[in-house]
Amino acid sequence: MNKKILFSHFSNMSIQNWRDWRWQFENRVTSIAAVARIFGKPIPQMEKLYSVLSIYPMAITPYYLSLIQQDDKNDPLALQCIPDVKEVSMLPNYPEDPLNEDGCMPAPKLIHRYPDRVLAIVTKTCATYCRHCNRKRSWTSPETSTLESRLEKMVRYVANSPQVREVILSGGDPLTYDDGKVEVILSSFAAVPHIEVLRIGSRMPAVLPMRITKDLCRILKRYRPLWFNTQFNHPSEITPDAARACSMLQEAGIPVSNQSVLLKGINDSPDVMQRLLYGLQKISIRPYYLFHCEPVKGCGHFRTEIKSGLTIMEELRRHCSGLAMPQYVADLPEQAGKVPLLSMSRSIKIDIRKHQDFFDNFE
Ligand SMILES: *Cc1c(COP(=O)(O)O)cnc(C)c1O
Repeated sequence: MNKKILFSHFSNMSIQNWRDWRWQFENRVTSIAAVARIFGKPIPQMEKLYSVLSIYPMAITPYYLSLIQQDDKNDPLALQCIPDVKEVSMLPNYPEDPLNEDGCMPAPKLIHRYPDRVLAIVTKTCATYCRHCNRKRSWTSPETSTLESRLEKMVRYVANSPQVREVILSGGDPLTYDDGKVEVILSSFAAVPHIEVLRIGSRMPAVLPMRITKDLCRILKRYRPLWFNTQFNHPSEITPDAARACSMLQEAGIPVSNQSVLLKGINDSPDVMQRLLYGLQKISIRPYYLFHCEPVKGCGHFRTEIKSGLTIMEELRRHCSGLAMPQYVADLPEQAGKVPLLSMSRSIKIDIRKHQDFFDNFE
């Protein structure tokens, strides 16, 4: 969108402020009225959106908002961050927690669903709230304990669980904390002798790339092997700012991978997905997972059929470098976990039949 209009919305706008993640965070746009003011036009069904916001609040960084083409009513970035009445009106009414994450917490906010790794929800705050978030159930419930007290219980569980070798810091977005707190979290888990690998799940490179600072990278570098998983869902999110953020992480020796969600009307076409994957490969990010959108309450309008995901994957496989190919997975409840979705298409079967010599025990 026109940056001038956006800038004029903020009284204290300057280039320095724009590049300061704290300014971006503090000036997140949290009301529909503000979006309408900035876009210079009414937002459809504005009245009804107030009822959505009371259940699922909104927050968008000025940076992410600036990437939206406000004249396109189906802008793929707008669809990811601007509330939609379908969040509360759409049927069927899916469960809030279909994976039963809340039932797999041996310590508060620590999810243990796979033998060798745990996922720590260190905060419920995000820089920008994704409308397709599979943990949107937690947005409105207030934080009832301090990070320190939660962390102590999490670390105690991990220390008493020798089979756990990897800790994933997630949320919310762990990088909404300042550097000091990020370091406390990392060092607490790293101090457990049998923890071999740390991982951060953060969407900052896509929604607030200014958060990736030299100081942050200096800290992260000390906790290697540290893997960074981010989430780009559309090629328009791969901006020079995003590329710079990822490159800083990589220069600190931290591999960056991407988990996308297959989202109806946003990236559910071979063309968009190919541009996304090529774009990621060009900035040395390894596409890791493509998630089938989970049946989560408030997210139903983003769901595609599995069939369409499989068709997209087949199409991509024909065109894209293997290094650019994510694995298409569905996350299933509790210990079933992430399951690869593979198509046994006719064309592939026929190809194999034609090359029986290559397969000793084929059929
Ligand atoms: C996705 C997930 C992981 C990580 O799984 P990977 O396949 O290693 O990426 C770990 N714990 C939980 C609870 C998860 O949902």
